[in-house]
Amino acid sequence: MIDGHTQLVGLIGWPVGHSLSPAMHNAVFDALELNWCYVPLLVPPGQVEAAVKGLAALGFRGANVTVPHKQAVMPALDSIGPSARTLGAVNTLVIGRRADGAPIIGGYNTDDQGFVRALRQGGFEPEEGGRAIVVGAGGAARAVVFGLLWSGIGEIVVLNRTLERAQTLVADLGRRPQEASRLRALPLTPETLIESARAADLLVDATTVGMWPHVDGSVWPDGVPIPVHLTVFDLVYSPLETHLLRQARQSGAHAIDGLGMLVRQGALAFDLWTNQGLAVDEIAALMRATCKRVLRK
Ligand code: NAP
Repeated sequence: MIDGHTQLVGLIGWPVGHSLSPAMHNAVFDALELNWCYVPLLVPPGQVEAAVKGLAALGFRGANVTVPHKQAVMPALDSIGPSARTLGAVNTLVIGRRADGAPIIGGYNTDDQGFVRALRQGGFEPEEGGRAIVVGAGGAARAVVFGLLWSGIGEIVVLNRTLERAQTLVADLGRRPQEASRLRALPLTPETLIESARAADLLVDATTVGMWPHVDGSVWPDGVPIPVHLTVFDLVYSPLETHLLRQARQSGAHAIDGLGMLVRQGALAFDLWTNQGLAVDEIAALMRATCKRVLRK
């Protein structure tokens, strides 16, 4: 029940109606009997700084930030965490109070850690000698590449339909020689993908291809088996079993769905807000059950 003691968090984006975050966070608040509530907040482009000031004035404890505000929110913040700064995108706000009661707003990005935790939970351990292919060069691909670099994997090839975006990603995340030497950009074609996959251990799809309602789409060409030694991670979680993951399973490759990342980035945000000291995987498991129920509907 919402009362005068309820702590508020929310999601700011445009649109927000499709998001699973309200359901998964509120399910955990209920399960843990925390008097907290998570609300979706539709914020038009151009209004994000006013919205953040409003959240602080209304006593919100934090928020998630989604498209198109992940960059635009940054000037409104008092501090920005290291991965958010490197990625140039914030997905979580934490609103604290100074001694005099004035708000202090920190911005974080939990996507990179959420991805790496989901990858490990899915049974893939990034190793120094390992090779990864990341398809896509948008915001999600940036978080994946940053997470993989940070986790110590040996080499990452970024393939994208628009080559310049892959090159920009590689230049942005490869500023130091120790990272630059592990990164390469290629145009995405069936040939470059198949060739790169031969020598790789991990294939991550960070594009929108295969997302509902275009569920028959896949970055991998039909009729070509996916190498059996590959682990295939699709960031798309609606549908949960994408065409790419079906292709992987049918080829005998190991497949990991995108929901693990979604719930782990959410669980990391939950931890930043509530500081309950619970294991991220424990929170993520509660969130996953709720998301699966919502997706089935
Ligand atoms: P984005 O910034 O819009 O980037 C979209 C990417 O998809 C670009 O690289 C784009 O290539 C590529 N793409 C789009 N249509 C394509 C096509 N027909 N063929 C080949 N490539 C195509 O999106 P984003 O924010 O990075 O999100 C990407 C995906 O990740 C979405 O499906 C999103 O739902 C998912 N995601 C999942 C999680 C999770 O927790 N599981 C978290 C974040 C995002 P161009 O550059 O050539 O346009």
